Amino acid sequence: MADRNLTYHEEVVSRDKKSWLCGHSSCVLWFTGLSGSGKSTLANALERKLFDMGCKTHLLDGDNVRMGLNSDLGFSPEDREENIRRIGEVANLFKNSGTITLTAFISPYHKDRERARTACGDNFFEIHVAAPLETCEARDPKGLYKKARAGVIKGFTGIDAPYEEPLDPALYLDTSIKDVDKCCEEIINLLIGKGIIDKPREISVLDKRRTIALDFDGVIHAYSKGFQGLDNVYDEPHVGALEGISALSELGYRLIVVSSRPVPAIQKWLTKHSIDHYFEEITNIKRPAKHYIDDHGYRFEKGNVNSWPQVIEMIIGEKND
Ligand code: ADP
Repeated sequence: MADRNLTYHEEVVSRDKKSWLCGHSSCVLWFTGLSGSGKSTLANALERKLFDMGCKTHLLDGDNVRMGLNSDLGFSPEDREENIRRIGEVANLFKNSGTITLTAFISPYHKDRERARTACGDNFFEIHVAAPLETCEARDPKGLYKKARAGVIKGFTGIDAPYEEPLDPALYLDTSIKDVDKCCEEIINLLIGKGIIDKPREISVLDKRRTIALDFDGVIHAYSKGFQGLDNVYDEPHVGALEGISALSELGYRLIVVSSRPVPAIQKWLTKHSIDHYFEEITNIKRPAKHYIDDHGYRFEKGNVNSWPQVIEMIIGEKND
């Protein structure tokens, strides 16, 4: 790089720190396959599921990228190669930001995909979305096969241009025999297996009946000055919180904290106030629970210093019903 006067800057905030903030590791899920094989459908469905699990994701999808970043590129072999090269580089930037990055491009050439793998480094997972050509052509979601068969589109992958199958993909999904949910389940299992995300904890009906989910800010942490940053847990416990939490625990409930804050920030604060042992879990994901005690909810309206005693009274009353 010296001849071009370029210097690579090391980041001050590392990828590990960013991952810690997100509560999961980052990676690139590179979906490849014929047009109509289901790359977009799967990537969108998966992104929705990961979002619901509290993950930070971003999807780079064919036409959207061609309309913006790559609007100067056409479909000549050189432009196709450059299209994939840029997507590989952008995917790497997203990965380094701590994001679970999904890309959905036909990317028919082995060489181009390998280049993307090299650009992205670790945690690059190739997912071969494989449906037989006949299935893709029968689906023809954008009417492109019809045009290719009629000769209106030239050099169409699968018709008059090759698709080079991945040699050793992280996952092979035949969408003609597996439905969208099953495919997503396999990808989520891959992410768990590779240590990118944690296994979601199963909560039984019995656990749900015994669980009380507590919002952190405004219920446990007084939160008198409002939002001051996710890591900044600046206040003392909310009035009555310590007594209330201990009472709920004595009543036999399993208590969990649900908050969008980073788990270690909450953990540290709970330890400082010697109440960490009351909680079975601190999570960013909404879990099944019998009650959600939320500062926007009933009895926690601003200025009500009796919020906690009233909550306990309500829960005891219900137990005795
Ligand atoms: P691509 O992005 O690979 O070009 P699309 O996702 O745009 O493909 O289109 C795939 C089509 O196949 C959609 O109409 C989708 O509803 C359908 N389809 C049927 N079964 C599946 C499946 N198991 N996975 C993904 N798509 C499927």
